[in-house]
Amino acid sequence: MKPSRAKCSFCDKPATVELRYAGKVFCKEHFTRMFWKRVRRTIANNSLIEPNDILGLALSGGKDSTACLHVLHRLLRSRPNTKMIAITIDEGIAGYRAKSVRIAAKNCKALGVRHEVVSFKMEFGKTLDRIVKTADGRKTGYSPCAFCGVLRRYLLNKAAKKFGCTKLVTAHNLDDESTTTLMNVMRGDVSRMGRLGPKVGTGKWDGFVQRVKPFAEIPEKESALFGLLTGIEADYSTCPYAGRSFRGSIREALNGLESRYPGVKFSIAESANKISEAVKEKASGRPKSCSRCGELSAEGVCQACRYIDMVS
Ligand code: SF4
Repeated sequence: MKPSRAKCSFCDKPATVELRYAGKVFCKEHFTRMFWKRVRRTIANNSLIEPNDILGLALSGGKDSTACLHVLHRLLRSRPNTKMIAITIDEGIAGYRAKSVRIAAKNCKALGVRHEVVSFKMEFGKTLDRIVKTADGRKTGYSPCAFCGVLRRYLLNKAAKKFGCTKLVTAHNLDDESTTTLMNVMRGDVSRMGRLGPKVGTGKWDGFVQRVKPFAEIPEKESALFGLLTGIEADYSTCPYAGRSFRGSIREALNGLESRYPGVKFSIAESANKISEAVKEKASGRPKSCSRCGELSAEGVCQACRYIDMVS
């Protein structure tokens, strides 16, 4: 990532960033310019932001979502008809989440963005820490991330509806997209391929807020670098449960592949987008409603309700 004493490929300034997959080196200014260009292109090519949208940004306070908050805030200055609300989910992870919630609140206050915090404790009556303890005791075999991922998505969708959002923005980056693709392939879960790509959902089902991902073509390291170079305050710490996840192992393997074959993450994400389109076309039927909570569900009882039952 860091070149040695080379000049920027676009000017005479010293380069601070090397992108091997592009075969180029960048000074700070040209790197940030390239970053903005790529995010704008993803948004424009996929119509991620439309007039009169109310964007619900999933803001954890971590590096990606905080960078996304700043990027969208600046982009929306020229789109007065589009509004943004930041939504933070507090899962209840001791020694970790409280700090990032504080940082999220601080950034929103500085930018004047409305900020809403929703917690597992308020919604499900228990924190993620409590859920993990119970699940481990009962030997459910599910990892903390399995519970966290399902319950957080559920809450984000519910909160986005409650606050009247037309789209839910997540800061999923290229690494997230390529990692999820490989995980789905390894699990043989083709139906989940339909959730990949910069835009998920048609927006025509009342119960499911369309998800959009402006950073889908940004590698994780570049998102972190953008935040550091532009002085964005974010939480760079790692969740204590991250080491227990399948995702973590795939991510590590993928980083090894990327260092040997630069650009492989882009290729995987591109394949995923094509598969995703095909899966979306096939799965055009209306999803059912969960018989317990009424939220949309692929089955009679949604996954979130089934997980909560498991640890009740
Ligand atoms: Fe949740 Fe796992 Fe992410 Fe921690 S690492 S916040 S448990 S999904």
